[in-house]
Amino acid sequence: MVDLLITDTVLSKDGRQMDVGVSSGKIAFISPSGEGISEAVHVVHAKGGLLLPGLVEPHIHLEKAYLLDVMDRDADSLQDAIQITAKLKSSFTDEDIYERSLAVIRQAVSNGVTHMRCHAEVDPILGLKAMESALHLKQTLRHQLDLQVVAFPQEGVFRSPGTEELMEEALRMGADVVGGITYQDECLEDHLDFAFGLAEKYGKPLDFHTDFSDNPNDRAIADIARRTLITGMQGQVSAGHVTSLGSLPEHEAMDIAELLHRAGISVITLPMTDLFLNGRGDAEGPRRGLAPVKLLQECSVNVAIGVNNIRNAFTPFGKADPLEVAWLLAVTSYMGGERDALALIRMLTYNAAQALGIENYGMKVGAPADMVLFRERSERDVLLDKPETRMVWKSGVQVQQYGSKAIEWLRKSQAMDIIGTRVKGMKLWRNS
Ligand SMILES: [Zn+2]
Repeated sequence: MVDLLITDTVLSKDGRQMDVGVSSGKIAFISPSGEGISEAVHVVHAKGGLLLPGLVEPHIHLEKAYLLDVMDRDADSLQDAIQITAKLKSSFTDEDIYERSLAVIRQAVSNGVTHMRCHAEVDPILGLKAMESALHLKQTLRHQLDLQVVAFPQEGVFRSPGTEELMEEALRMGADVVGGITYQDECLEDHLDFAFGLAEKYGKPLDFHTDFSDNPNDRAIADIARRTLITGMQGQVSAGHVTSLGSLPEHEAMDIAELLHRAGISVITLPMTDLFLNGRGDAEGPRRGLAPVKLLQECSVNVAIGVNNIRNAFTPFGKADPLEVAWLLAVTSYMGGERDALALIRMLTYNAAQALGIENYGMKVGAPADMVLFRERSERDVLLDKPETRMVWKSGVQVQQYGSKAIEWLRKSQAMDIIGTRVKGMKLWRNS
């Protein structure tokens, strides 16, 4: 007898139907349909639907999501978006930050996200408000989502006096990751000295916003990689955007990609923001301004996909759905084949888990039962359909049961236990 049995599900593209049993929050067995334990407290008949490990959101901003209604104009560049948001930030209250952050998490969980890394802004405007809110959500929602919190100096460390001390305090409070933003300080060396120094002092991984442009001369990522090798932090450093790499001649981009591979740096591509803000300086034939995902893959660099922003000056789109962003990347990076679909889904799952240093992740016996089940039968169909109906479990407990149409209702509700209820004897898709 197991707690949960999912029957006739498909785990990979070979299409073989399997049963998955869950006990005490962990995957207890995976066996060909009908060959394992058949008694369970809860049974879900998947009818050939694809079961993936929980989606991993590797790069998101909670406290500055959903700002469209309070913006007095739209941004026309990255620096403009930073300025518009900086102005709004001074009016953020604790309650406001918390409410909007919670709305993002609820939507993400509903979409199948079981792990998330958020960048909480730490600067003299917000002080530690965003950090406090994120750490509180990490604790209170721990049964629905594993949340990693990055101390992120959005306004720059040295050009925004007081940030050094606030960053240090954020680490003392419990930040999981040291953040950096190479394009916000004048001296790259000083910025990297600070970030790597703080990471070493507190024994934390690093996550940079870097080379967010289409200027081929922006190559801070190469300096980050060299520092990573020198400090022995291979496998503990991630970098978001890295779009200028896409403007380099191929052989030069290859050299940097090989350096990234050696340094074990994960690149987190953020297509919704990158496509929206880059390429604007090109009077004719604007570039797409994306990280060169295929080239990075060829050089065995770990690539993951992030949502980044939701409905604000940086990205006036989005619904915290990793599949939506993966689909956008597929369309704009010439990734339309079946192998591409498999690679893209991997970027939302195993690759993102590697970037975040998540241990014991995935569909294997003994791993936490963090899973998302689709009615679709293959990765490619999931990517193409971006279906609303998804069944999501965190440690074997169902955390979503209504599909994302219920999001508005979830957002309006204050009851924290709406996500996290167990449904007895539920059968999936009875009519199909
Ligand atoms: Zn970001």
